[in-house]
Amino acid sequence: MFNRVAFVTGASRGIGRAIALTLCRANFDIVVASPEIERNEQVAEEIRACSGEAMTLNLDVTSPESVKEAFAKTLKDKTRIDVLVNNAGITRDGLAMRMKPADWDLVLNINLNGAFRCIQQVLPTMMRSRWGRIVNIASVVGQAGAAGQANYAASKGGMIAMTKALAQEIGSRGVTVNAVAPGYIETDMTRVLPEEVKAKILAQVPLGRIGQPEDVASAVKFLASEESAYITGHVLAVNGGMYM
Ligand code: NDP
Repeated sequence: MFNRVAFVTGASRGIGRAIALTLCRANFDIVVASPEIERNEQVAEEIRACSGEAMTLNLDVTSPESVKEAFAKTLKDKTRIDVLVNNAGITRDGLAMRMKPADWDLVLNINLNGAFRCIQQVLPTMMRSRWGRIVNIASVVGQAGAAGQANYAASKGGMIAMTKALAQEIGSRGVTVNAVAPGYIETDMTRVLPEEVKAKILAQVPLGRIGQPEDVASAVKFLASEESAYITGHVLAVNGGMYM
């Protein structure tokens, strides 16, 4: 039996790293793809330390050339890509009145356009093999909105709508497309939030704790598995109940 290949964007740290390690433990071969080659290598070493197969790629999802090259290299090396996890994402928060056009554009370009660029690269191979799993890491903010995050909310809401459109488009080819919408997860992205903001968010979480990257990774593992074959176009909330 061959190992399936999972390509994880933004896998150098945080949620992406946890997804890479969790899928590796579930016997996927992992492609760790982020802009920082050294950080990618550290994650690859962790994967190899638990006897998994890892390949690293220097990927910037804002660059169509970088995206094309990364997927071409993967297909040359591994011959297949079974799972794509669009996890690369950033925030550039600010009130809409004062938001710089560059901050709007960058967030949309990485979070939404970047995911679509990657999806376009995997569709031919997944459709040919009549098996594929695309998992988009959205956000509770894409479902509920959040003041000061118009750019981020638009990118993640767009990702959810794109997930549903694609699920309808390629379901007949055996490819499922789902989104995971995390709530408040402890990573570098949220570590920078002021303490009073963190406390306010936490007060809205019925499960009473901040989420861990592994909480999100477990949901991704399920959506990447054989067991999720009849689930597509779904948005799986991993948010401790903060938005229902
Ligand atoms: P981190 O900031 O910890 O990690 C972000 C990852 O994205 C890094 O690997 C980073 O690479 C990579 N990245 C950034 N820009 C690019 C780019 N242009 N091309 C490729 N990769 C890039 O974030 P989290 O782990 O917290 O978030 C991961 C995903 O989960 C994001 O999509 C985020 O929006 C989403 N999310 C996070 C939540 C949270 O509470 N943390 C809540 C809801 C959703 P590098 O290391 O080189 O910078």
